[in-house]
Amino acid sequence: MLTCLALCFHHKRFISRRKRFCFQSGLNVLIGPNGSGKSSLLKAIHRCKDCDRQEGAPTTYHYFNSEEMNPHKTHRYFKGFAGSVIRARSLFSSHGETLRDVLKSYRPQRGDCFLLDEPEVGHDLSWILKIRRGLDELARSGCQVIVASHHPVFWAKASVIELKRGYLQRSCKLMHRVTACQLPRKQKTAK
Ligand SMILES: [Zn+2]
Repeated sequence: MLTCLALCFHHKRFISRRKRFCFQSGLNVLIGPNGSGKSSLLKAIHRCKDCDRQEGAPTTYHYFNSEEMNPHKTHRYFKGFAGSVIRARSLFSSHGETLRDVLKSYRPQRGDCFLLDEPEVGHDLSWILKIRRGLDELARSGCQVIVASHHPVFWAKASVIELKRGYLQRSCKLMHRVTACQLPRKQKTAK
């Protein structure tokens, strides 16, 4: 499990404000406006040799983004027998179904870290809820999950890391306004 990441010189330039990030077990969510560095942070965790990782124990990282889940591009990413099955199924599947197949094909080990970049892209709400349930299951099995997401479905009951201070507060206000606008007006009841 990843406990802290200290950014290298290169990544400090692309990620808002902070030089060091700490993570919890279970579900962690990175939030912030476009350009604040959420994707860069996930990539830094996944493969930067110069960023300094502190881990509770040796950790295997699994990285997913919507490009990899694109049913037309799976041949680039998934190899071996499990890869053949995913590639064949992806011919008839959506992004969400491909993501589900990929997650199913993993045998997660306790302490593994799953990194997902905007898993909500291209999905309707029912699929987003299914993905959330899948991630909760991974967390329950002892894996760590770090998601970069704009979707509030992933924010609830997660350890939220804001890349831009006040983003959560601003988003909640905005959501409240949208919800209030969409509520039907109270009908006056005739006496
Ligand atoms: Zn780095």
